[in-house]
Formats: sequence, C-alpha cells, structure tokens
Amino acid sequence: MKRETIERLRRRLGDASLKVAIVPHISADGDAAGACSALWQVFDRLGIPAKVLTCDYFPDYLKWLKRVPDAISFQNRPGECKQWLQEAGLLCMIDHNTFAREGDLEPFTRCFQGEVLMIDHHPDPIEVTYRFSDTRLSATCELLYTLITRLWGKSIIDTGIANALYTGISTDTGGFNHNCSRPATYRVVADLLARGLEKEHVHDQLYQRNTLSRLRLEGHCLLNKMMVEERYPLAIIPITLQELETFHFKDGDLEGIVNMPLTIEQVLVSVQVTERKERVKFSFRSKGDIPVNAWAKRFFNGGGHRNAAGGQLELPLEECLQRLRESAAWFFDEHVAGKGTQF
Ligand code: 5GP
Ligand code: MN
Repeated sequence: MKRETIERLRRRLGDASLKVAIVPHISADGDAAGACSALWQVFDRLGIPAKVLTCDYFPDYLKWLKRVPDAISFQNRPGECKQWLQEAGLLCMIDHNTFAREGDLEPFTRCFQGEVLMIDHHPDPIEVTYRFSDTRLSATCELLYTLITRLWGKSIIDTGIANALYTGISTDTGGFNHNCSRPATYRVVADLLARGLEKEHVHDQLYQRNTLSRLRLEGHCLLNKMMVEERYPLAIIPITLQELETFHFKDGDLEGIVNMPLTIEQVLVSVQVTERKERVKFSFRSKGDIPVNAWAKRFFNGGGHRNAAGGQLELPLEECLQRLRESAAWFFDEHVAGKGTQF
C-alpha cells in the first residue's frame, strides 16, 4: 500500500464539499457487501456524505449488515443513482477491478467525471486515481481494514464496522478454508475482535440461516446433478431455471455449493453452470495452483481469482455444457499440463 497514494487520498477526503459514491460488483457477495457496509459506516462517522449504489440488489442474507438496506439500486431507482454519480467527486470501486463488473451502472460509472478509488484483490486491475489492489489478500475487507486504519487509526473501528469487515474475510475464504495462509489475516481478525467484533452473531447470520428449500436444493444438486468426469479431475453441477423455481430459489441460495465437489480427493476443479433468465452463469473453483480464471476468461467471458472464477454466456444450457466439456481439453491438456501441473 503506497504511502504517497494514502496521503493523496487523505487530502482528498479532507475536502469538506466532497460527496462519495460506493459501488460493489454485480451479484454482490459477502466481501463486496461487507466492504460497502464498513466503508459507508466509516464515512458516516467522519461526516462525509456517501451512498452505496448497486446495479442489482444485495441478497437478503446480507441485509443484516449495517447500512446495506439503505443502498440504492439502479433497478428501481435509476434516477437517484445517476443524480448521485453527477454530484459525487469520488467513486469507490469495491471488490472488483473493472467497470465491466458493474452491470447496468457501467455506462454511467465509466464516464464518471470525478476521481476513482479502487479497493480490491483481483488480478489485472485497471488504472484509477487511487488504486489499492493486492491479490495476495484473503478479501477486499482485509485490504479495507488496512486502508481505514492507516488513514484514521484503529479507534475508528466499532462493532458495526468490525462485523462488516469480518463478514468479507470469513465468506471470501470459505470460512477460513482457502486463501488465508498469511499470518497478517489473523492479526486483522484479532484486531477486529479487540474492537468489538461479534463473531458468534456474524456466524449465526451468515451460516445458520438455511431455509428448508435451500438445504433441499443443495441435496438435490449433490445427489441428482453433480457429475464427475472420467477423463479429467472435474466435477460439473448444471442447474436449470426450472429447478431454481422448484426449490424457491432466492439470491444467495447457491452460495457454497460449487465448493462441495472439491472435498472429493480426486476432484481438482468444480464448475457450477446455472441457467438464469437472460444468461447462463458459470462458477469455477479449483484446488492448489490450477488457474480456473484462465479458463473462465478464455471461453466464458469471465475471469476472477486463480481458485475462484466466474463467467457467463448467452446460450442455451445444453450448449454451455457442451462448450465446457470441449474446452476442458484445452484447459487440462494444454493449459494446466503445459504449466507442469500433474493431475
Ligand atoms: P462466483 O462463482 O462466486 O460467482 O464468482 C467467483 C469469483 O469469480 C468472483 O469473486 C469474481 O472474482 C469472479 N467472477 C465471477 N463472475 C465473473 C465475471 O463474469 N467476470 C469476471 N471477470 N469475474 C467474475
Ligand atoms: Mn472478494
């Protein structure tokens, strides 16, 4: 984290007339929502006028986070979003590395007139005015903790902010499973506990709120849908729109299912292919140094992290599955094998 960038940002935030727009990525997850919540609370404490603008909606399971219910969605309040983007002098790009991840907001954020602050941990970030981006970090929330405390000291962190930051670190690491082998991550968590983090409460909100239909959907995916390929160490879970309706799908209900096949020893890559109304969404997960973001980028208009990536195609589900199987040959036989990884 460059000191010079922090000092420039500090001066900018000291401008009494500054208004701030905070934008998470499309289909916000715990890390994006946690970071938006934490940053908004910090701006509240400092008296800096800020609003969180979303291109879609935060999922219900994250609505307990402070300030998250106050976010303005472009879907039902487009005028307010456009107006705030006109008035704001600083746009905070949270947990993503390009405007292309901002859905219907993209045309308006792309031509934003003010300065842009990026807080993120994805590879290949675009150039912006103040860029804080580090792929080594477990979560955007871990990076945000460091930025906030460098700017204003630890005392600015209260229980609400600690709960939000912890939400991002916990969810982006799959409950401290992956991407969290650096001691620094645990020092951040220790500090959050010292600042009033309600760990049991957060866990309860995040992990103990299953509905019966969500649990049944999970069971259905594992029992009836998961396929393990013979040629490759690959599991595929296709999910149709009809199935989502049958199980009364709500945003967030599929969270975590794609990780489950990786608990099988010989499965190194898991892909969930979900049919949505306008497109088919791909979720990729892998173990070790298998870079599924390369697969998502090359064939599925996507990208992401080495071990967790996503993409989408506007094609029928069957054709999507066909493309997945065909491109598996490129991915495993050429790309992965070419890099010397054994499987
Ligand atoms: P998920 O499978 O949870 O939707 O996404 C996993 C990760 O992949 C996200 O954290 C994000 O970094 C990345 N990702 C998901 N969808 C897309 C996409 O359409 N484009 C890009 N570039 N990255 C994506
Ligand atoms: Mn993240």
